[in-house]
Amino acid sequence: MKIVILTGSGISAESGIPTFRGSDGLWNGFKVEDVATPEGFKKNKQLVLDFYNSRRKDVKSVVPNDAHFAIAKLQNSGLHDVTLITQNVDDLHERAGSKNVLHMHGSLANALCSHCGEVFPANEVMMVEDACAECGEKTVRPDIVWFGEIPYYMDEIDYKLRDADIFVSIGTSGNVYPAAGFVRIAKKKKAKTVELNLEPTGGYHDFSERKIGLATKVVPEWVDDILKM
Ligand code: NAD
Repeated sequence: MKIVILTGSGISAESGIPTFRGSDGLWNGFKVEDVATPEGFKKNKQLVLDFYNSRRKDVKSVVPNDAHFAIAKLQNSGLHDVTLITQNVDDLHERAGSKNVLHMHGSLANALCSHCGEVFPANEVMMVEDACAECGEKTVRPDIVWFGEIPYYMDEIDYKLRDADIFVSIGTSGNVYPAAGFVRIAKKKKAKTVELNLEPTGGYHDFSERKIGLATKVVPEWVDDILKM
């Protein structure tokens, strides 16, 4: 079967990384417009770099959970054609053993040069005066897709969604587009659509099946069911 999995911040919550809209608020009380927009970066580069430097450090101190491991198990079983798309900027899927993860919103592990477009491994602590590894310009930023920018891999994702037998959305509130619209693309074609989340989200009519609960419980259960099929 062709399975397309979309994950959001809920899958990493039990590893200790706060979600986007959780009760503990936006990431550590920062405003989206200050730390997750090109305008915010232009206004205060140091604040934005400090914010992502802290997130990079936070991610290093946590480990993948059973939900990340279950997805890696499904991928590595070789029984199905699994495409893994994540909105997350952490590397917990990779550290659980997943391969070819489509980080549609970028990755904390990388830096991006806004002059030449080069993407390269980020310094652990990024600084305003860092120079690009390729062109040498001091135009380096975190490789994070900010609000108002176009997510990565959109053509490949669109193709995979239209070809999917099953589309599964895990730990995402369905508030951030274009990811929130993926379920409709998959459903319009032929896919069975499944939501695994702590609470039912707004896309009520778009999912043919729902399992509500903690990711570390519902994801391994769902994977075991698929592996038995
Ligand atoms: P969101 O905060 O809008 O939604 C999180 C969803 O996860 C909610 O529906 C919530 O009910 C669910 N959830 C919370 N804990 C859960 C658990 N233990 N098990 C299962 N589900 C759980 O986040 P989003 O939809 O991912 O969108 C926000 C954006 O913020 C994304 O684009 C992402 O790039 C970014 N972000 C990433 C990370 C990360 O990399 N780990 C963390 C926070 C935000």
